[in-house]
Amino acid sequence: MSAIYDRVALIGLGLIASSMFWASKRRSLAGEVTGFARSAETRETARRIGLCDRVCESAAEAVEGADLVVLCVPVGAMASVAAEIGPFLKPGATVTDVGSVKRDVIENVCVHLPDNVHFIPGHPLAGTEHSGPDSGFAELFDNRWCLLVPVEGSDRDALAQLRAFWEGLGSNVEEMDADHHDLVLAVTSHAPHLIAYTMVGVADDLRRVTDSEVIKYSAAGFRDFTRIAASDPTMWRDVFLTNKDATLEILGRFTEELFALQRAIRTGDGDHLHDYFTRTRAIRRGIIEAGQDTDAPDFGRVKQPK
Ligand code: NAP
Repeated sequence: MSAIYDRVALIGLGLIASSMFWASKRRSLAGEVTGFARSAETRETARRIGLCDRVCESAAEAVEGADLVVLCVPVGAMASVAAEIGPFLKPGATVTDVGSVKRDVIENVCVHLPDNVHFIPGHPLAGTEHSGPDSGFAELFDNRWCLLVPVEGSDRDALAQLRAFWEGLGSNVEEMDADHHDLVLAVTSHAPHLIAYTMVGVADDLRRVTDSEVIKYSAAGFRDFTRIAASDPTMWRDVFLTNKDATLEILGRFTEELFALQRAIRTGDGDHLHDYFTRTRAIRRGIIEAGQDTDAPDFGRVKQPK
């Protein structure tokens, strides 16, 4: 594939940025990729593992002359990074981000960007519970969705170029309105993460009583919660603080359903439970049919020796 951008700058060098770099290298999607991370330690690691063609000592230096700038920092840090790079952006450049929340990013980033650049927010729906510069891998975005969230007056050519870039990284791309994005993600990602954090917290309290049985017998259900609850604390703090309304709305509905299930258990209403679980099982089938997860038993995990 030929390069889609001559120069790409990645600001923030964690899981998403490093995966973008390796995926971009795989298909030569960029002439040169520069990168910047705020800590010297991350910049050092990046240089050591060959992450980015050039690791810069400031965000301003990294974005200079870049045709595409990707903000890959936690949602709460997007505005300050935008303010830092604003004066150094190349006229006509495209600025995008990968943040998990979109309305908040749009409101806080736009104000720091000059009128002569294109701002097109984005969100790759792909990730793992790992973070940092050495956690990325080229296949992260393969066959995963990337949502682009154009703002009012977004340039169609700049949008088409960004779409081609994400498709080159392996993603399927769709456009979505910011508020709808935040609601959909509250259902599919944000509320489930909060529930996993809570369940693991509860089990941790219990562990003090049952003397490590929770860990010892940690089987499928709980183990999957612990994987999700190992996700980066800063990233997830920012997600909940910035997608407050949609997350609270979904948690409200979740609590109502939980009460209904609690009542069904208390009153012995097996039909209610059976109907509910039949419906949810069909949703799982739908996800597998859409190619978004594996049908392998235990998510394809290698069998542990007994
Ligand atoms: P990550 O691995 O934790 O990396 C975050 C990067 O941002 C690091 O380079 C870090 O710098 C930098 N950073 C952190 N706080 C900062 C601040 N206050 N100012 C400037 N830089 C700061 O994170 P990630 O998983 O790649 O996530 C990056 C973005 O992608 C987030 O907005 C997240 O919502 C979004 N996202 C994540 C996932 C996922 O599953 N992880 C999926 C889709 C989208 P240092 O290394 O120097 O500390």
